[in-house]
Amino acid sequence: MNAMTPAESPLLSPSDDMAGAIETDAVIVGAGPVGLFQVFELGLLEIKAHVIDSLKEVGGQCIELYPDKPIYDIPAVPVCTGRELTDSLLKQIEPFGATFHVGQEVSVVQKLDDGRFFIETSKGTRFLAKVLIVAAGVGSFQPRMLKVPEIERHLGSQLFYRVKDPTQFHGKNLVIAGGGDSALDWALDFVGKAESVVLVHRRDGFRAAPASVAKMHELCERLEMQFLIGQISGFEEAEGRMTEVRVTSLDGLTRRVPLDALLVFFGLSPKLGPIAEWGLDLERKQIVVDTEKFETNVPGIFAVGDINTYPGKKKLILSGFHEAALAAFGATRYIFPGRKVHLQYTTTSPKLHKVLGVETPVFD
Ligand SMILES: Cc1cc2nc3c(=O)[nH]c(=O)nc-3n(C[C@H](O)[C@H](O)[C@H](O)COP(=O)(O)OP(=O)(O)OC[C@H]3O[C@@H](n4cnc5c(N)ncnc54)[C@H](O)[C@@H]3O)c2cc1C
Repeated sequence: MNAMTPAESPLLSPSDDMAGAIETDAVIVGAGPVGLFQVFELGLLEIKAHVIDSLKEVGGQCIELYPDKPIYDIPAVPVCTGRELTDSLLKQIEPFGATFHVGQEVSVVQKLDDGRFFIETSKGTRFLAKVLIVAAGVGSFQPRMLKVPEIERHLGSQLFYRVKDPTQFHGKNLVIAGGGDSALDWALDFVGKAESVVLVHRRDGFRAAPASVAKMHELCERLEMQFLIGQISGFEEAEGRMTEVRVTSLDGLTRRVPLDALLVFFGLSPKLGPIAEWGLDLERKQIVVDTEKFETNVPGIFAVGDINTYPGKKKLILSGFHEAALAAFGATRYIFPGRKVHLQYTTTSPKLHKVLGVETPVFD
């Protein structure tokens, strides 16, 4: 099936191809803080949602980029870390029983002639939804690749951009490339467990926490690991296996470093990816929305959080929360056509207490 351009392509009818697709009110693309809060706002209006994220863990930038750093500008929460905010949001949306599909990217979106959307992920999970809410932040995070010709042939066997199972590296000769927290944290973690650990970074300055850098230097002095300044410029193979990498320093000197596995942590770069092909009006890689409903040029597709743009947009979590509330109200005309939906307070509305699963308090 081709990637869609709902604004331009002729509308399709639901087909046999779509049999077995999960039918739902709403699909949310992205489980960052705004996608999570979107579940809450939809839930209050009795709209059921499925949430998809290309990452394995929910929380978006808060978890991927700053899980332990403090956030000070969430209303009524004087301070919380990225992880604490994510945990609180997950707790808050519990009553609504949203289904999460992680580790898969939404690749296909097609508008059907019955008004619904057909949505498919990179893992082949398929949905038929009445509305689509794009809360995709700055796009899918992809690891920055090592730019050495042909080395990607060893991806998954000897070249890794993520550590899924640390034990697979125990007893191995490891080369770890990078100068951020991930590179340093894993280098320190593998000392004593791997046969050898060589950290390679292009300069003697690090983005990682100073305490980790100090610990790394201490371990190098004790000859428990090595640190090389330079860039990986090539590799050698024997019988299809990578046997060593070449590390070239700033002065042009090249060293040969034998290895069993190469772990590269150059950070994550966001990519708009397939979203660019969904026929949505874009402005500088962001989705253009109105500020009444945060709806895009394609009726029924909304965009909230860092992915959208409108006059005065500020990429803040609290802006995304506001957008999620209005997008939920905007979605009601597709989910409950003809029904007037009124604003109700969570403090006083017995109906909202019911959907939240809480007791209605008795006021004097
Ligand atoms: C270091 C740092 C500190 C910050 N501090 C603050 C702060 O103090 N206060 C504040 O308000 N903001 C802060 N921000 C900004 C804040 O993190 C963002 O505004 C917020 O994360 C946006 O939330 P979101 O849900 O829109 O997007 P994101 O958090 O970016 O989440 C989007 C999710 O969508 C997923 N996704 C994208 N495309 C697809 C696809 N095709 N298929 C499936 N999944 C997809 C991504 O994997 C990602 O998980 C900070 C940002 C950084 C980097």
